[in-house]
Amino acid sequence: MKLDNQLDDEKIVDLAGRRSGEAADGAFGASIQRTQSRQVAANEQALGLVARIIMDESLPFYVCSLDGTVIHVNDHYKSIDKALGEMTLAPGEAQLAGRFAVPSLKPVIDDVLASDTTVRAEEIVRIGGHERIFLGRHTPVRNERGDVVAVAGTYEDVTAQVRGIEEANRTQSRFQDFARASSDWFFECDADMRIRSLSDRFTAIVGQPASLFIGSKFEQFGRFEENLDGRMDGIQGIKMRKPFREQLFVVSDPSGEELKFHLSAVPVFDRQTGDFRGYRGVGMDVSGRYKQASEADQIRKNLETLLRELTRKNLALDEATVQATSALRAKNEFLAAMSHELRTPLNAIIGFAEAFEQETFGELEKAYLNYATDIRKSGQHLLGLINDILDVAVIESGGLSLSIDELSLEQVFLKAVQMNKDAAIKKSLDIVALAVESDAFIKADDRRTTQIFVNLLSNAIKFTPEGGKIGADIAVNTSANNVAIAVWDTGIGISEEHIEHVFEKFHQVTEHIYSRKQEGTGLGLHISRELARKMGGDITLVSVEGEGSRFTVTLPLATGTVSDDDNFI
Ligand code: ADP
Repeated sequence: MKLDNQLDDEKIVDLAGRRSGEAADGAFGASIQRTQSRQVAANEQALGLVARIIMDESLPFYVCSLDGTVIHVNDHYKSIDKALGEMTLAPGEAQLAGRFAVPSLKPVIDDVLASDTTVRAEEIVRIGGHERIFLGRHTPVRNERGDVVAVAGTYEDVTAQVRGIEEANRTQSRFQDFARASSDWFFECDADMRIRSLSDRFTAIVGQPASLFIGSKFEQFGRFEENLDGRMDGIQGIKMRKPFREQLFVVSDPSGEELKFHLSAVPVFDRQTGDFRGYRGVGMDVSGRYKQASEADQIRKNLETLLRELTRKNLALDEATVQATSALRAKNEFLAAMSHELRTPLNAIIGFAEAFEQETFGELEKAYLNYATDIRKSGQHLLGLINDILDVAVIESGGLSLSIDELSLEQVFLKAVQMNKDAAIKKSLDIVALAVESDAFIKADDRRTTQIFVNLLSNAIKFTPEGGKIGADIAVNTSANNVAIAVWDTGIGISEEHIEHVFEKFHQVTEHIYSRKQEGTGLGLHISRELARKMGGDITLVSVEGEGSRFTVTLPLATGTVSDDDNFI
């Protein structure tokens, strides 16, 4: 191998190992950077190396004398010499090797001589408008005596590696920013599922140093549990070396509080061999979410308990209602039967008492006549009571049957007045105002409507002291399609506290000395209002104690029976 005339009589015996030392770090922007390398002793091995470099046409290669004159360049070097010319040859002068000293190589040669070993320099060169990075390795060439007689160098294009490292660094720093900003934490574990790295976020959450966890398996500092969906995908995923998501992992912090995390991870395999290398994943703090879920669960359980209790009570209530309904029905049936059974003999008693009073079967002693009157009155009172009880029983059992007709209101009302006239006259009451006139027709049951008016009139008579006044007003309300008949008196009136209750069953106002003397069952108003309501009407009361009362019955109007002029009578 012949390098040049200058070297003909000198054997190249030493070339520092071109791979000694490692690539210069950083400062990629600098046009030339040199680093010192370890010197390898001159020996046969070095000779072999230089031979190989010279033969290796893949790397641009040059040899120059110590004054910078180019002794040899290979073809590959020639192809890039234009670009490298700045540092080595002037552009286009490769073929003139041996004749030119290259001033820009001078600093490299100086470095080689100063360090007496291989010098590395990274050189950024523009080729075809693109920036390329070359790693230059410049090595002393020695003669037999060990003196440096020349410098040989190679240029290796390391653009891809350098750019790759730069990109990797950028990616890493981006990833670190994400990791810092994220509230989640990251982990890496090996094929044995031992933690190999853990982001700071985890140690911040659990409040323990990372060293406690590195090298441990997950199960050694926490436990896997089912997540809210009831899934345990992680365990299965790890077994099968598959990715998994939202595996619940529970860790107790130093205060004993349980911290819950969702782990999601992907398996890592060796690119070349395909061997399983472990997992990379992320942990998300879901303690709050699980706390809320368990609170919601507790609330749901409480509600379910309440619902069960309510259902049980409802069932008990249904049962009680069934029992009460059947008891009520039994009671009403009994009352109806008893009332019927009682009325038959009572009618006989009243009938015979009347016969005695009228001395139908011959003259009677005065005392017997008085007894006969007592018997009749008592019988009639008893009959009234039985009738009322029967009415209540029928209404409550829902068995009331009504026969609704179109009735002349005036006729029905005056019929009731007629039935009470004697009693009113007997008490010297002014009943002039009872002589109402109306051409209104109502839709009602004749007998039951009469019963209502009789009851109101008899009460008015009963509770109005002698010399008082009773009367009635009729008002037709066509827009509401009803008629209101008010029965009023100037009697004892009803106190406010009793007004609410006089319509209740058996309610009687007994504080008043006058009312205490009056007979009654306390059922009349209750029955009357129920009857009015069953016919689509109602009864209301306005009363002032000591001044009088006004009971107003409303009943549905039979359509087309009155003209507008008849509204008030
Ligand atoms: P009864 O008249 O048989 O006692 P009611 O149900 O008809 O039963 O009346 C209930 C109570 O209402 C009466 O006992 C009485 O205290 C009071 N009451 C009813 N009508 C009048 C009235 N016009 N004036 C004063 N109090 C009355």
